[in-house]
Amino acid sequence: MDHLDTRTLQQLDAAHHLHPFNDNAALAKRGTRILTRGEGCYVWDAEGNQLLDAFAGLWCVNIGYGRKELGEAASKQMTQLAYYNSFFQCTTEPTIQLAAKLAELTPGDLNHAFFTNSGSEANDTILRLVRHFWAVQDQPQKNIFIGRHDGYHGTTMAGASLGGMKGMHKQGGLPIPDIHHIDPPFWFIDGGELSEDEYGLLAARRLEDKILELGPERVAAFIGEPIMGAIGVYIPPRTYWPEIERICRKYDVLLVADEVICGFGRTGEWFGSQYFGFQPDVMTIAKGITSGYIPLGAAMFNDRVAGVLKEQGGELAHGCTYSGHPVCAAVALENIRILQDERIIETCKAQTAPYLAQRWAELGEHRLVGQARIAGMVGALELVPDKRKRAFFPERGSVGGVCRDNALKQGLILRATWDAMLLSPPLIITRAQIDELFEKAWKALEATAADLGI
Ligand code: PMP
Repeated sequence: MDHLDTRTLQQLDAAHHLHPFNDNAALAKRGTRILTRGEGCYVWDAEGNQLLDAFAGLWCVNIGYGRKELGEAASKQMTQLAYYNSFFQCTTEPTIQLAAKLAELTPGDLNHAFFTNSGSEANDTILRLVRHFWAVQDQPQKNIFIGRHDGYHGTTMAGASLGGMKGMHKQGGLPIPDIHHIDPPFWFIDGGELSEDEYGLLAARRLEDKILELGPERVAAFIGEPIMGAIGVYIPPRTYWPEIERICRKYDVLLVADEVICGFGRTGEWFGSQYFGFQPDVMTIAKGITSGYIPLGAAMFNDRVAGVLKEQGGELAHGCTYSGHPVCAAVALENIRILQDERIIETCKAQTAPYLAQRWAELGEHRLVGQARIAGMVGALELVPDKRKRAFFPERGSVGGVCRDNALKQGLILRATWDAMLLSPPLIITRAQIDELFEKAWKALEATAADLGI
């Protein structure tokens, strides 16, 4: 590949590349930022700007950029056997080793992996296989999934339907049938005079109401992100997930944790369900499984579900060409080895996350910030017009983008969803880099307040 100058690349991009989750006309005018290199917690763009990536790419570069070991693992596997499928009664050694490793790492008896290329496909997989699980047990009518409004489970027809993003449902005729949603647990706006713990129970009991409304004999599963990421890092009260678990058990509704963001250390535990203390029957994972170095997702099933699928399920009419791709599996194994050998998640829990929480709380004192929420290594600053009130800006979403651009001017990448500034740095971030993050974020908040005349 011959290298081209930045302007030419931007023109070619505008002419030939449709960007996901973007207004492509506006983007073409503005010109895309072209990233060229990454090292640790930093990335560099084609203009030579060094940026502190406090969003780990897209919630995924958990071990940080530039780890040569992952490239070497990929290269070794590509040279030895670049590809083979898992369809023709075959598989490869990295695929087997990864399935066994995931069985060991995930909590409880989530002992069975089905591999995909992405988190969205993992959620498609669970929709089909869970419905199949009930159908082969003579309960084909037990096929309804309940998710949450504003939840995010990916972009495929099933993923976007399980999710509750209204803007996504508007495009392409979604949701597909037999998927229902309950309101998300977001105390900041919805909690009124209740304590967070009281509100957590109330929000969870919306699931019971919905199950009773639909009939327990019709409800196959409940799916949720332990922490709702894309909508703005909604961290549920401690009481929420245990109550959801109790309700699922009571009505024999399978509990699905979408751990695409929370998995592989994001909360300071290996999985978000461990952080909140509940046991899923099914779990979907992606992103941090390879730290984003190569695409890979998986659905993990417990012994009960996998047992039925294996013993009574017949041929599984489901699978991707690249299910269990050996190169992706080899990279995932190396990524997990690094997470384990370097005790990255333990260090986060004991040292990094408490310090990050302290500095994040300091940002919470800024006059623009209504709530600074954080759980382990994931958080958000909710920007509000009046710090004393729990309410959004009248024109919701008008301020987040301004603050994101101000952060970029400081050399800091934060994501904005509506008016929440989202934080999800590489897990290897140091104290000094957290201090840098704090200084830059504070300056970005100051610049935003000045832009608003506050
Ligand atoms: N589930 C959750 C919770 C996610 O955050 C995402 C992606 N951000 C997905 C699923 C979809 O994963 P992918 O983009 O790999 O398809």
